[in-house]
Amino acid sequence: MAEVKALKTNCRRCGDVVVPTSDVRVTAAASGTGLFVFQCPTCRREVWQASDAGTLLRLRAAGAMPVQGPAPLELTELHDGSPISWDDLLEAHEVMRHDCCPQDELTA
Ligand SMILES: [Zn+2]
Repeated sequence: MAEVKALKTNCRRCGDVVVPTSDVRVTAAASGTGLFVFQCPTCRREVWQASDAGTLLRLRAAGAMPVQGPAPLELTELHDGSPISWDDLLEAHEVMRHDCCPQDELTA
């Protein structure tokens, strides 16, 4: 019987899941950290997880393939400060409503 290589990880919606490493894709940022992505076997949503370089290398060795195309590497960035609030979101919406289309002023 062939050995099945699988990754035990989690989906934010479903909790712990097991994914065959052949269904996992990996990508690395310049910092050495990176991301892996898989389709959750339960909810079928795409799940991106930040990961260290060692884990990404082990996933590659176990059969995970590289991500094709752009990846949301901003997920690997360290952030500080408090999360945005509803007020922050509404304020940004107001700013974009008034300032988002400078080309309109050029063509008027
Ligand atoms: Zn899920």
